[in-house]
Amino acid sequence: MYENDIIARNVVGVRAEIGAALKKAGREADAVRLIAVTKTATADVLPELLKNGVSDAAENRWQVARDKFEHPSASAFDWHFIGPLQTNKLKYVLPRFSWIHAVDRLELAQAISDEAGRRNCLPQLLLQVNVAREPQKHGFAPEEALAAAKVVAQMPNLSLRGLMTMAPLVVDSEETRPVFRGLYQLWQEVQRTLGIASFDQLSMGMSNDFCVAVEEGATMVRIGRSLVSPSPTDDKM
Ligand SMILES: *Cc1c(COP(=O)(O)O)cnc(C)c1O
Repeated sequence: MYENDIIARNVVGVRAEIGAALKKAGREADAVRLIAVTKTATADVLPELLKNGVSDAAENRWQVARDKFEHPSASAFDWHFIGPLQTNKLKYVLPRFSWIHAVDRLELAQAISDEAGRRNCLPQLLLQVNVAREPQKHGFAPEEALAAAKVVAQMPNLSLRGLMTMAPLVVDSEETRPVFRGLYQLWQEVQRTLGIASFDQLSMGMSNDFCVAVEEGATMVRIGRSLVSPSPTDDKM
């Protein structure tokens, strides 16, 4: 499926774009963690990613992720859970995923804290913020995020690491800039208020819009199609 070093070429291309955006913004060359979203790919993409220096991978549904963990390369990755999460899936998700990006309600954070306590693990959490207030999207409203962060930061058995958002799907990625800038400002405000050094991650930017997100301060980009599509011309997925 992954012929002609397609993954290698995708990784080089995406890294070059991230590098250019970092430079443009005057940021350090290693300021962004590249996370490969593997939800549309088969498990045989995993060794290809590793070979090309990508060892962070993300999935948004446990049912889709499950089979990937059978692959011998899976254990070499840091896994990020980036989708909506039901509390009854925590028993599967927590042993596999060290990062949970889309914490969108306090009950979920509490359930993660409880389950992590039972399992003796320390998941890294990001709160999802619905910056653009899209009715179909999950996440805290921007004005709720600070209060939520204060509560979650006090919960045992987890580490609150930052904020995450998904920008609206638009034709011109430039239109996403106010959304990313808004999340950056909110992130700074929460950082100042909490005063926790480990609250240091800003997860924003996908295939369509990651250059803008990196210019606006992203520390993690979540990239699916541009990295793992079997063919660079196949952008219909
Ligand atoms: C699928 C997904 C991505 C990656 O999207 P692409 O457009 O394929 O890069 C990023 N974040 C979340 C939450 C997703 O569900």
